[in-house]
Amino acid sequence: MATEDVFAYALSSNQAWAGYKGHQNPDFFPKLALGQSPEILWIGCSDSRCPETTILGLQPGDVFTHRNIANIVSPTDINTSAVIEYSVVHLKVKHVVLCGHSSCGGAAAALGDARVGGVLDTWLTPLKAVRNAHREELAALGDKARAVRIAELNVEAGVQVLMANANIQDAIAERGLQVHGVFFDIGSGRVRDLGLGTGKGGLKSIEGTNGSADVVRGRHAMLVFRNGTEGAAMQAR
Ligand SMILES: [Zn+2]
Repeated sequence: MATEDVFAYALSSNQAWAGYKGHQNPDFFPKLALGQSPEILWIGCSDSRCPETTILGLQPGDVFTHRNIANIVSPTDINTSAVIEYSVVHLKVKHVVLCGHSSCGGAAAALGDARVGGVLDTWLTPLKAVRNAHREELAALGDKARAVRIAELNVEAGVQVLMANANIQDAIAERGLQVHGVFFDIGSGRVRDLGLGTGKGGLKSIEGTNGSADVVRGRHAMLVFRNGTEGAAMQAR
């Protein structure tokens, strides 16, 4: 596909998608337009390979989202703080998920000593601080393992910031809000629970969405979500 055609393709792809979804479930968009009640706040990296709703196999309306370069959670970042406040205090999400990922360009930049330039070095400062705090551990690892480890340590640092957030603390105390740190392996498509925050395998207990069994039919398989402990299952056909 020629580069200049990408935008036109994206728009035509949207038309096809909207038509398909509307045909599959005529109530889907009208219901979506009535309002949102997502149960998950996802904080992740802006990386194009980490689209939260897609990799979770969920649907529009399921995940409130904040993404930035290298999924950095800074207590003074008003953007992140506003997203947390709105989703936790007003939408009353049940889970806050901070996700790091493999092959993160921000993590790679923070591991090196070269300046990226512009505002990016300022943005990556917290990640450089994580690197400096774990210099020995990181130095002992091979390149691939080091990139994974700093991304995990970045999630750990971010979860600590989340756990110190006043809105999150209140919601944990008042209604059992869960906070999770996870890692997305791009090479396998799998999300791994790092067991941080309040989460102890919490991702597995996320309830199904939109009724007792929500079925998403793709060309080669069917994704079925059920409420309760059964979780989601992919059925090839
Ligand atoms: Zn990234």
